[in-house]
Amino acid sequence: MARTMFQDSVDYDVVLICKGGIFHDVTGNARTLGNEITLPTKSYDRYKDFSVSPATQGKKNWFIHEMAHVWQYQLGYDTSLAGACIFMRGDYFGDDAKHNGNPVNKPMAYDLHIIKDDKDFPNYNIEQQAEIIAHYYDISIRKTRSDYYQYRDIYYKILKEFFSDPFNRDLLPTE
Ligand SMILES: [Zn+2]
Repeated sequence: MARTMFQDSVDYDVVLICKGGIFHDVTGNARTLGNEITLPTKSYDRYKDFSVSPATQGKKNWFIHEMAHVWQYQLGYDTSLAGACIFMRGDYFGDDAKHNGNPVNKPMAYDLHIIKDDKDFPNYNIEQQAEIIAHYYDISIRKTRSDYYQYRDIYYKILKEFFSDPFNRDLLPTE
């Protein structure tokens, strides 16, 4: 699954899927630090292998989002520092984010509009990059049934360099 997006740029053997503690169970959020993706207990028990049923496409997109943080980390980006900065700005709170104008019930760190932003991939933050990769994964699997399919050419344009060379460190967030 992950290879379809990250090709060989990630050392998959060192990636761990972990069962979360109280923090993850209360928030329902996953947390990826370094090579460790920590899931809330319920999600871990149900989906620890996202490639098989009963993981829905939405859950698979979630896994690809978390894998994007592993990719950022393995390419040398300090994802925990970036996450701390987003946290300090308050952008991990609330649910005001939209994706291409549609509310998604997520905090502002995840907000993006693939057309209006008019940005290159490195100009997005760690969360937005992970969302863009997950959206493209959704497009490639669900095709016309994906909410993002209508923007597929723009997603592809933004991700073109990532697909041609996922080892390229210049693709990491500039902030
Ligand atoms: Zn994330």
